Amino acid sequence: MPRRTGAKRLSLKLVVSVTVVVVVAAVSYVVWTQATQDTAVESKVLAEARTLNTEMRAVWDYIDASQESININSDGTYDFKGIYCSMAGKAIAQRFTRESNGYTIRYVRDNPRSSTDVPDRFEQTALNHFTVGGSTEYYEMAGQEGRPVFRYASALTIKRNCLECHGEPAGTPDETGFLREGMQLDDVAGAVSITIPVDSYVEESHAEFLRSVAFFCVLAAAIVTVLLLAMKRWVSSPLEQANRQLERESKQKSDFLAVMSHELRTPLTSIIAYTDIWEKDKQTDPASQERFVREIKQSSSQLLEMVNNTIDVARLDSGRLELQWDEVDLLEVVGEVLSTSTPLAVKRGVNLRHEIDYEVPIIHSDDEALRKILLNLTSNAIKFTEPGGTVTLAVGLGESPGWVSMEVRDTGIGIRPDDQARIFEKFSQVGQTEHGGGSGIGLFLVRSLAEELGGMVTVESKLGRGSTFTVLIPAGGAQGAEEGSSAADSLREGDGR
Ligand code: ADP
Repeated sequence: MPRRTGAKRLSLKLVVSVTVVVVVAAVSYVVWTQATQDTAVESKVLAEARTLNTEMRAVWDYIDASQESININSDGTYDFKGIYCSMAGKAIAQRFTRESNGYTIRYVRDNPRSSTDVPDRFEQTALNHFTVGGSTEYYEMAGQEGRPVFRYASALTIKRNCLECHGEPAGTPDETGFLREGMQLDDVAGAVSITIPVDSYVEESHAEFLRSVAFFCVLAAAIVTVLLLAMKRWVSSPLEQANRQLERESKQKSDFLAVMSHELRTPLTSIIAYTDIWEKDKQTDPASQERFVREIKQSSSQLLEMVNNTIDVARLDSGRLELQWDEVDLLEVVGEVLSTSTPLAVKRGVNLRHEIDYEVPIIHSDDEALRKILLNLTSNAIKFTEPGGTVTLAVGLGESPGWVSMEVRDTGIGIRPDDQARIFEKFSQVGQTEHGGGSGIGLFLVRSLAEELGGMVTVESKLGRGSTFTVLIPAGGAQGAEEGSSAADSLREGDGR
């Protein structure tokens, strides 16, 4: 079934495309969320480091600004107490480091006076940035003893009071006995180094990350489900349905071709057989000759009807069936149908009767279409009626004004209720092929033509008792159908189609 495979392949392609889009979106979302979470952690911890740095600077500046009041006694004499900026800063930093959980604050410098002020790798890099690069802060995320930490360093510069111990003359001892370095005002003297443990930030960020990813997954799953359901509802199912319909039609067409070739062969074989006998035995008696002519004529009519039906169905399918609207005398049409159908009725031993209401007016319609409708219904009725049965053609006024009705009644085999709905479909045969075969297009053509003429056809049937096909036609042409549609409606309700 290539078409169904095509529909399935299309669905599969859509599913694969949607999945690829969702996976790409999910991966991008994870990468993006991870990056924004990292940035968020870094900016939070940077703000904390800057706050700590500001506090330490405040201490430094306060001690620097208080040097005079610390070192000058109440009697005005200078007495160096040893409470200077770096000493106070370091003492507070040490206490803070001891008492906080994992935080460290240190003061480091090049050429340190104490071994505790020796910079590590990060601090040395920071000092290089401050002295050579001119920047005033430096930071990075790092690992320390297996813990994630944030390292931050801020440059310390020489203030006026610092010059006392670190300024000129270089090489001479200061108040504390260390040799002065000959530094100038605003030279980089060292750095405040702050380390902040970030485990809690990282854990919080991981939890946040997992929450976002879970939310995204649920959202993506919901979108994909809705998309797939919508696809199935509005794309796959209708496509598969259309495919099934196409397959059905294609099978019906091939069946029709097979049946048709067989059906055409029957009257042709009969024509050839009778002409052969006639040709070989020219001496045949006149009665036999007459029978041969009748048989040949009847087979030819049957053949012509089949070919005409096929041509008409092809025209209907391609929308090329054109009606010839004219004044039509229904009684004339019925007369022609009776004379065309009589040989078949005689051959099958079926009584062919007619009931005419002579008040039926001249109508505006297409006589050829009406003839085809009646001919198909009559030949079916004869075909499906056992010898001795009766087929009646009745023409009269419709129940509603402006409508005429044509009925073909038979006392034949009847049609099962289930089958009554199907018999008007194209290529439908409901299993009575032993009654003279058929191509399954006759009733489809009858219904299509009746509708083209603005009318309709209905059937009432009882299995084993016979069938009545009723064709209701507007006397005034297709436009008349609108006005008298109540008649058609009541018929439609009664017939169970
Ligand atoms: P076909 O050429 O096979 O007769 P139709 O479209 O004319 O095709 O009819 C479709 C089917 O309807 C027939 O095969 C037959 O089974 C059923 N049918 C039509 N007319 C009658 C009838 N008068 N009595 C019983 N069955 C009928």
